[in-house]
This record gives sequence, structure tokens and C-alpha cells, in this order.
Amino acid sequence: MTDQPDACTGLGFDPEELRARYRAERDRRLRPDGSAQYIEPTGDFGYYVDDPHAVEFTRQPCVDDVDAVVVGGGFGGLIAGARLRQAGLGSIRIVERGSDVGGTWYWNRYPGVRCDIESYIYLPLLEEVGYVPTEKYTCGAEIHRHAQAIAETFDLYREACLQTEVTGAEWDSERGRWTVTTDRGDRMTARYVVFACGVFGRPKLPGIPGIDGFRGHTFHTSRWDYAYTGGDQTGGMHRLADKRVAVIGTGATAIQCVPHLAADAERLYVFQRTPSVVDERGNRPTDPEWAGALRPGWHRRRRDNFLAVVAGRADADVVGDRWGDLTRHFQAELAKLDDREIDDPQRRELAREIADFRKMNDIRARVESIVDDDATARALQPWYRHDCKRPTYSDEYLPAFNRPNVTLVDTEGRGVERITANGAVSGGVEYELDCLIFATGFEIGRAHPAFSGPPIRGRGGRTLAEHFRGGIRTLHGFTSHGFPNLFCMGLSHNAVAVNFAHVLDDQAAHIGAVIAEAEKRQAPYVEPSVAAEREWTESIRRSARPNKVQAECTPGYYNNEGKPPPVRESYTGDALEFAELMRSWRAGSGLAEVLPE
Ligand code: NDP
Repeated sequence: MTDQPDACTGLGFDPEELRARYRAERDRRLRPDGSAQYIEPTGDFGYYVDDPHAVEFTRQPCVDDVDAVVVGGGFGGLIAGARLRQAGLGSIRIVERGSDVGGTWYWNRYPGVRCDIESYIYLPLLEEVGYVPTEKYTCGAEIHRHAQAIAETFDLYREACLQTEVTGAEWDSERGRWTVTTDRGDRMTARYVVFACGVFGRPKLPGIPGIDGFRGHTFHTSRWDYAYTGGDQTGGMHRLADKRVAVIGTGATAIQCVPHLAADAERLYVFQRTPSVVDERGNRPTDPEWAGALRPGWHRRRRDNFLAVVAGRADADVVGDRWGDLTRHFQAELAKLDDREIDDPQRRELAREIADFRKMNDIRARVESIVDDDATARALQPWYRHDCKRPTYSDEYLPAFNRPNVTLVDTEGRGVERITANGAVSGGVEYELDCLIFATGFEIGRAHPAFSGPPIRGRGGRTLAEHFRGGIRTLHGFTSHGFPNLFCMGLSHNAVAVNFAHVLDDQAAHIGAVIAEAEKRQAPYVEPSVAAEREWTESIRRSARPNKVQAECTPGYYNNEGKPPPVRESYTGDALEFAELMRSWRAGSGLAEVLPE
């Protein structure tokens, strides 16, 4: 960024000072081991991912033929199932690791769990299921019930294989079918396979020295142990009344569970490495009059409006929450520019940065206005750009630090030093604990199922991972040449948006429409031509730009712990543009690229 003194006078803050502070804060968090600092919950740590909700059972293996196998029963898989049902498929089998559908909302049942995007736009298929959530940001239990309602509405439980993990998928060219195998001995065949494995599937643990030596009780937030804590997702953890509890991590999960732990534990220590952006929430019950007046198409209109607000091209903000703030600040900065300046990319980038400083100054001021103790307030102030980490929203998290039983242990960017048999050490001080809770997030890695899932073998036995050896190759992120009738949902070569459930719905709608057309034409299979795959892949690579802002960000999973890939592998436009592109592709001659005449 070049210095632009004129633009920076009269701001009430010094951008250069803030830049220097952000750099210094990032530098003390950068670690040479990057993502390798985390350990996988396998082997001795495998118990961290045991399913506390599952009851062991046996069943006969499925050796049968279905129209479609959908791998994953989270929102992605459920919406895909629903759209395939609408496309006219009869037998649809969801295969899911959990003992029920719901994905993230099955696993994450920690106290205080809620969606952080407004429920009316986050929950999918609301009009199809005939439901309006009871709160603006509703609780995890209600979201899980909605996942179940989708499965019921679209009759997806009937053929589902739960508590089952797919171990492989192989295309049989002669029969024109996929063979899908599982860890329960299933060997089913299917015309279509959809991979919808989600992004936050596997919890991760920090590789803190001594982590395996703690003698107290311990668990990860995505496997909350209510047998130990008592209570439920609404709190009331009476068994913690005489316990010293610690939470490691201060991301979106911790922000939601800390207020409940603060209310229920005898003592709570919150070990912080990097403070989150904690913005206003303003949750409220749904107004029945408003819900009753909603007109058909409301859900799509509201969701599209939110995407347009975040992308900075909406006339009105229907949702009206803090997600739109940064864009509003940016637009206000742009309004100050003359015609020449507005066309200058450097000047626009400066306007964006000033908007960010303004927003983050508000966030830091909010901490000071809520937290009584000055040192604690200072430690809770985030010093990085707004979108370096997922922003969080809570009206209860910051006040929790005013309670006498709650201590913020600020590790000043270094993380917990050591875990001992009796507790956790930071700054040379050992904090004695009865219970240690890891709110340390999930493995993201390369989210494409070709890399993170079971082997997927296409024509000639070649795996999708082999096909991607020189980089991901797809048409629109969904399909790849040599892998007929295989569809992948996710982030690669596709749109990304903060309301990811919306993106998943658009993806499922596209897959459903392509399959419906294939069925109508009685096409033997759907597969992109070599040329179509090459063209899309090249267009993604051409438009990909090194993410300069992320490269300068404090480390986290957004930037691969400070080592962002040189270029993004996602579509560079916004999700509304991508959905429009898919619509016109389907309406024009695009389908000829995947469906033989
Ligand atoms: P995150 O990855 O966001 O946070 C992990 C936390 O653990 C960070 O604060 C990290 O610090 C900290 N940490 C890691 N290692 C150490 C260590 N050695 N010592 C101290 N602290 C450490 O995980 P979450 O589970 O909070 O959230 C994951 C994602 O899930 C969110 O970003 C969000 O997208 C989603 N989510 C969505 C919700 C919703 O409402 N829809 C609710 C909850 C989560 P540091 O920042 O320094 O790395």
C-alpha cells in the first residue's frame, strides 16, 4: 500500500500506526510449524472423536442397487437428497457417520450453540418444509430438528445408512454404475454419487506439550460431555458447581459456550491466544405476525438480499445485522472519492482498508465499554483486519469477564505453554484444573473429497486424487472428466460465501437440475468433456489472485495458519454471480458439455 497522506488526514486515527500494530501482533503469532502444530484425534487421542450420541448396533450389509448415494448427511447431503428427490429419483441413500442426520448440527451440541447467520436465511428449505425458526439466531437443537424435518419431508431416512462410513467408490463402465463400499461391509451400486462431506468434519487438538498427561476430565467442544457437566444446550451444568474448568480457544465456538460455563463453573479460566472480533448479536424471538405475512419466495429473496448486502450491491438490507457493517463502511468511504479516484485500484484498496480500521476501532471500543477491568479489556481487543478470522457475535461473551469467578488467561499470542497432570501452564503459572475443554476447532485442509475422503476411482480405476495431481480439474467444481455421474459439493472451483448453507443449496439445485435433464434425456451418464473441464479450470486459474490481505493476516484456518496457498482455488466472483452463471449455463447450450446427445 502506498502512503496517501491526503486521504488519511482527519481520520481520527493513524493508519500507519495501526498497520504496524497489526504486523507486530501477526508476527508474534506466526509459527514455523503452521498447521502442523495441531494433532489429529487418532490413536491415543481417538477417544476425543467418539460419538457420545450413538448406540452400538449391528445390521446386515446393504448389497443392493439405488438411484443415488449421497455421502454425508449434513445440510449439504440433505439438500442434495431433497433436490434429487425433486429431480424424480426414487431411491436415494444417504450414508452418514453420525447416528442421525445434521452434520455439524449433529456433532456440535455444546451449551449456547446457535447459528451465527440469521436463521431465516441460514436454515435451508424453509418454505419446502413449511417452517419459520422461532428466533432470529436460533439454537442448535432447533437447527438439528430442522435437519431431521428435511429428511422426513423428502423421505430420506427410509434408505439412509447411519453410523456408517464410506470406504471407497468405484465406477463400473460396463454397468454404468458406481460401487460404493462402507465400513459396515455394504457394497451397494448406484447410478449417481454425490459427495457432500462438509468442511468442519474432524475436530483438531493443539499439539501442546503434555496434552496426553492431564489427569482431570477433558473433551472437545464438538463432543460435549453432558454426563460430566450436567445440563444441556441451554446451560444448567450443575455438576460444574464445584469444578475448576478451562477452555482453550476463543473462536466462534468458545464465544458461545463461555457465558454458560461462566455461569455454572466454580472457576473458569479462558486461555486465549488471539482474541476474536466479538460484535453485537441482538437476538430476538420471531414475531408471529411477521412470520404469518411472509409470501411465497420470501426465503430465496431474503437470502439473495443478504449475499447482495455482503457483496456491496444491495439497495436495502433486509436482514439488517452486523454482517453488513464492513460493506457499509466501505461504501461510505467510496462515496468520498471523485470519479478519477474511484477508478484507481490503489485508492479503492485504501478506502477498503480505512473502512476496516473504522469497523475494528468500533469493535475494540465495544470491548472497552463492556469489560470493567482495563487489563482484561485490553487483552480482549483484536488487532487484525476484520475478515482475517470468522467474526463472532455475542451479547454475553464479553460481560462474562466481569464475573468474579472468570479469569482470562491471555497467552499473548503464544498459546498454552504446557499441560501438566493437574492443569495448564501459561506465562510460567500453572492453573490447577478439574476439567479441560478444547474449543480448538476443526481440520480444514484441502476440503475437496478427492483429498480428504475415501478413494474415488473413475474410469480405468484412476483415482480423483491422481486426476488432480497437477491441481484440481473440474467443470464448475462439481464434475470431472473420467468420473461419470459423480458430483462433488464444497469450496473448490465453486463460490464461497459467509452463508455457506445458501451456497450448498445453490450447488444442490444445480446438481438436481443436471440430473433431472439427464433422466429426461435418458442419458447413459453425465460427464464433462475434456475441453469443458480444461476451460473452467483455466478460467479459475486465470482469475485467481494471490490473496494479499490474507497473507498479511494473523494466522488462523482462513490463511492456513499464516501460510496461504499462492492462489485461491475458488471462484473469484461472488455467490450470486456464480448462481446466475450456472442458471444461464443450464438454460443455454452448457448442458451439451456434460450430456451426450
Ligand atoms: P476456531 O478454529 O475458530 O478456533 C480455535 C481456537 O483455538 C482459536 O481461538 C485458536 O487460537 C485456539 N487455539 C488453537 N491452539 C491453541 C493453543 N495451543 N493455545 C491456545 N489457544 C489455541 O474453532 P471454532 O470451533 O471456534 O470455530 C470453527 C468454525 O466453526 C468457525 O470459524 C465458524 O465458521 C464455525 N462455527 C459456526 C458457528 C455458527 O454459529 N454457525 C458456531 C461455532 C462455530 P488462534 O486464533 O490464535 O489460532
